[in-house]
Amino acid sequence: MMSLKINIVTLGCSKNLVDSEYLGGCLKKVGYDVAFDSDKTAFDSVIINTCGFIDAAKEEAIDTILAYCEQKKQGSIKSVIVCGCLIQLYAKELRQEIAEVDAFFGTAQWNEILQYLNQTLPQPTETSRLLSTPKHYAYLKISEGCDRSCSFCSIPIIRGKNISRPIEDLVKEAAELAKQGVKELILIAQDTTYYGLDIYHKRRLADLIKALAKIENIVWIRIQYAYPNQFPMEILDLMKAEPKLCKYIDMPLQHINTEILQSMQRMISGEQTKDLVMKIKEEVPDIAFRTTFIVGYCGETKEQFEQLKDFVRQMSFDRLGAFKYSPQEGTAAYLLKDSVSEKEKERRLDELTALQQEISLAKNIEKIGQVFTIIIDSQEGDYWVGRSEFDSPEVDNEVLVSNRYDLSIGSFVKVKIIDAVEFDLIAEVI
Ligand code: SF4
Repeated sequence: MMSLKINIVTLGCSKNLVDSEYLGGCLKKVGYDVAFDSDKTAFDSVIINTCGFIDAAKEEAIDTILAYCEQKKQGSIKSVIVCGCLIQLYAKELRQEIAEVDAFFGTAQWNEILQYLNQTLPQPTETSRLLSTPKHYAYLKISEGCDRSCSFCSIPIIRGKNISRPIEDLVKEAAELAKQGVKELILIAQDTTYYGLDIYHKRRLADLIKALAKIENIVWIRIQYAYPNQFPMEILDLMKAEPKLCKYIDMPLQHINTEILQSMQRMISGEQTKDLVMKIKEEVPDIAFRTTFIVGYCGETKEQFEQLKDFVRQMSFDRLGAFKYSPQEGTAAYLLKDSVSEKEKERRLDELTALQQEISLAKNIEKIGQVFTIIIDSQEGDYWVGRSEFDSPEVDNEVLVSNRYDLSIGSFVKVKIIDAVEFDLIAEVI
């Protein structure tokens, strides 16, 4: 019997991607032919795993759903199933508005989706995971939900309270991934530094990393989404002592002005934020620091935005992501006046992005002549595309190496940087 073909389309962040991989694994286990984000059309079903974090993500989700509904109308796919964060927030409205969708599900409703597709399926488990990333790296979701109450964020409404996964379960999953060829683990959660507080009554991110580092074929472990308040400093000692832990931190700071941070309910002042960044850079001088800022938050004055720019200049972050504030229903900031106009938000976003572009270029030029170990992620056009321990996949810098070298995807290679542009480095093999 021919297996039914399912395309899982993932929108949003890596946490959503992991959900899609669990779902994909469950579907494969019961005989489906699963593809991820395929642009081919001949599928029996498409499952769209949506994001609902900010307005731009919601618009993208709606556009994607409508595009697949159109394909269904034209007969190239048979059914459209929609799941994930957006549905968690707006199931009722979407059911009324987009009647062409066959079924709606919230986040992590794998059992329900499987039951909808076929009533006689066995119980899926979290170990049934099908990777959608290149097979040498994988995201490891160490907890679900969030206990914080950042004023602009609807994640706690969507995903609920923080639930950490036990260390043994994570080590088991990571060992299984390593067996399949994964060499790099990227630890993710809404707030990775909170890990353990709910189930062990203390922060245990460092213990978890030590346990994961014992897995033989794991070469790199990377931390994303670290929350600044009460950052567990032992992570920095571990970064110095444990060669498998990448000298890399992704810590969304959101702003530097104390008044704004207070309104954002971030539990940290501007001064404390600055001290923390300086302490991290002092303890691990060669660390790559990635952060995220929100521009145009309720009441953000021109002076406060200038303060943010000064801070960015002063700290010279290695990587920086910026978002325009958009009010989200149900959050504390939704009740505040969204006082910065859309045009001004756009202007501030462009200014901050241009500033970071300058910083990134200067930092990349400094790297010319230096030697790095990189992992090869892909081959595109005339180049092998790789990354050093200082870069996460998809969001950070890439290192391009001519394809005249005989390399392979997933292998580590030593290179010397010979040229640099804003967000990429050019290298030769040594
Ligand atoms: S830490 Fe704040 S911004 Fe991050 S998911 Fe939790 S509530 Fe949202």
